[in-house]
Amino acid sequence: MNPANKMEQLSAYMSGKGLKSTSQRDYIADTFFRTNTHISLEELLGKVRRKHKGIGYATVYRTMKLLSESGLALSRQFGDGQTRYENLPADGHHDHIICIKCSKIAEFHNPKIEALQSEAAKKLGYTVVNHKMELYGYCADCAVKDREA
Ligand SMILES: [Zn+2]
Ligand SMILES: [Zn+2]
Repeated sequence: MNPANKMEQLSAYMSGKGLKSTSQRDYIADTFFRTNTHISLEELLGKVRRKHKGIGYATVYRTMKLLSESGLALSRQFGDGQTRYENLPADGHHDHIICIKCSKIAEFHNPKIEALQSEAAKKLGYTVVNHKMELYGYCADCAVKDREA
């Protein structure tokens, strides 16, 4: 889905809730839809302020809350106390691996792991509709630095 379609979906969601769109909120949402990382509120604030100095943290916070409620953004917590947001992956679901030293986040998708998860759930009588898998460790760069130190 391209950013324009997402904006349409967002305004449909908002009018369903009786909310009016504002130019600040639209700009924040549009900026977010054009990102392809796991962006924190601080980082997004920095981006939107480059053009609109008047935008405050609270507006970014509320906009991203709205986007996650509408299903247009996924909120993630990777253990560093920051909430990060990412766009819905175009290629479907993925999982994350996070470096505990430099906080680099990589994504992976492994059909075997996905199948094993469903199998494990099924044995317990559950049907999985959603899951979050996060692996924590050292990225290749940090592992090398550790050895050199
Ligand atoms: Zn690292
Ligand atoms: Zn991701």
